[in-house]
Amino acid sequence: MSLVSGPGRGGGTEEGSPLELCVEKHVEYIKSLDTRRDEIEYWYTEHLRLNGVYWGLTPLHLMNRPDALPRDETIDFVLACQHENGGFGAAPGHDAHMLYTVSAVQILVMLDAVDELEKRNRGGKERVGAFIAALQDRETGVFKGDEWGETDTRFLYGALLALSLLGLLHLIDLDKAVAYVKQCENLDGGFGVRPGAESHSGQVLTCVGALAIAGRLDLIDKDRLGAWLSERQRENGGLNGRPEKAEDVCYSWWVAASLAMIGRLHWIDRAKLTTFILRCQDPERGGLADRPGDMVDVFHTHFGIAGLSLLGYPGLQEIDPVYCLPRQVTARVLQR
Ligand code: ZN
Repeated sequence: MSLVSGPGRGGGTEEGSPLELCVEKHVEYIKSLDTRRDEIEYWYTEHLRLNGVYWGLTPLHLMNRPDALPRDETIDFVLACQHENGGFGAAPGHDAHMLYTVSAVQILVMLDAVDELEKRNRGGKERVGAFIAALQDRETGVFKGDEWGETDTRFLYGALLALSLLGLLHLIDLDKAVAYVKQCENLDGGFGVRPGAESHSGQVLTCVGALAIAGRLDLIDKDRLGAWLSERQRENGGLNGRPEKAEDVCYSWWVAASLAMIGRLHWIDRAKLTTFILRCQDPERGGLADRPGDMVDVFHTHFGIAGLSLLGYPGLQEIDPVYCLPRQVTARVLQR
């Protein structure tokens, strides 16, 4: 892969936007997020807090700066979000939900701190596993996000991901979960949010990820799905979520990680995608946006750098496309 290093080179680059990853700027941007408690935006995004920690911590690990956020304080915050039932809320006092519970597990695994659940009398990892397993519908195999009942393949993927990292997949009916995912497959090769729903690359990631964790990628027509996914690349190198939609950095992850899982990442132009992601940086204040020139946020910073890692960008830790965690972390936990 060729990397353009100077500003103004390589198709479509705006004057002055460097085409190198501004590592130090992004580290400073992520560190600054926790010190902005006096800003109104901090409180507006409180419902995302635990996910925000995961979105900040993962790129720091990928950029070889795992200690840029204080480890002990991060663990304290995560554990303060846990409920008696084993699940985690977005912030202390918020209701437990599948998505935050998955983020909590990813953070604890990344920090090698799953043992803290036991040490601090949180019921160990088994209580977390019990919360997740109780959200499976034993008839259909799908998962709810919380006790109120919305179902989504995102929750199914999250459940398999977290339980797999905890070594607790036996708590659920894995065959039923796999059968449900298969029902969400469409004739175009993609997957939707539920059976019969339109294909969307976010749902493709969750369905392919779930099948990868279950060891059932054999159920996928990889050429047909690979064709649909590679059609997501647009002229400027960016990827969209479904036909006729605008490109967005977060789809760099959902599309490219899905392609990587089915062994078809080389079906897109990786150099053009790398250039597109780098153009989404704010080279002054750090962080990445959904597309060039927009406001940065930690969500797109995470998925942009994860995408660059997947594309083999020099100097970044390698990422595991199934778990969206550094590969050295999943290698340690799963011996894979
Ligand atoms: Zn996005």
